Amino acid sequence: MAIRALVWGENLHEQKNKAVAENYPIGMHGQIAKLLSEDKNISVSTVTLQDPEHGLSEARLNETDVLLWWGHAAHDMVDDVIVKRVMERVWQGMGLIVLHSGHHSKVFKGLMGTPANLHWREAGERERLWVVNPGHPIAKGLGEYFELEYEEMYGEPFSVPEPLETVFVSWFQGGEVFRSGLTYRRGAGNIFYFRPGHETYPTYHDANVGKVLRNSVNWAFNADRHAELMKAPNTPVASSIEPLVERGAKLTNADHAGEVAGAKK
Ligand code: ZN
Repeated sequence: MAIRALVWGENLHEQKNKAVAENYPIGMHGQIAKLLSEDKNISVSTVTLQDPEHGLSEARLNETDVLLWWGHAAHDMVDDVIVKRVMERVWQGMGLIVLHSGHHSKVFKGLMGTPANLHWREAGERERLWVVNPGHPIAKGLGEYFELEYEEMYGEPFSVPEPLETVFVSWFQGGEVFRSGLTYRRGAGNIFYFRPGHETYPTYHDANVGKVLRNSVNWAFNADRHAELMKAPNTPVASSIEPLVERGAKLTNADHAGEVAGAKK
């Protein structure tokens, strides 16, 4: 069965900026989906910020194996209820690919637990992405490096937690460097952050970028969902594996009454 990828697009710059509209007549989300559709193992669809529930209803997420996220100008417009829902899905095993300015999305910052800040400059610079982990599945089929002639500069320090793996390091014409392909695991969910993708440049028409995106969806896919990770069950003394005699002081039922709903399920 094919991997069900869902591309989430903010879909604002395409409507307002002529250069973006010309680069991406089918929307950035549409173009990203087109790149993914070159892999017969991926079945892809798109939703946008403007859809009811931003296109991320419970039903829709039930049918999603890997979510890709492109946002920039409207991170604050994403409803906190939806943010929580997406984060909980990731914890249970849904894959997440965060693209470019998605580093500042509520979902990514929430999962990282850090500000995810960086330095930036918009000057149409050449970006050279070095493959620093050539054996990694996300780098499959790439050379030692690849270049994007026009990109926005993102520079270190990038305030994210130390990643599980670093797949790419970028060099920019102005001299800065940046960790541009990072993997994380949160709960049972695989997360990949991929830096390129500035809206006024044709990044999502690049063959190597397409390859990275397809590879990352295959890498992030996990068929299992771990709903049990959302629970914090009590294990009664009577059912302990080894015989156990209770000792010491403990809370009363009244003390437990104030606990957060759901924690004791
Ligand atoms: Zn940008």
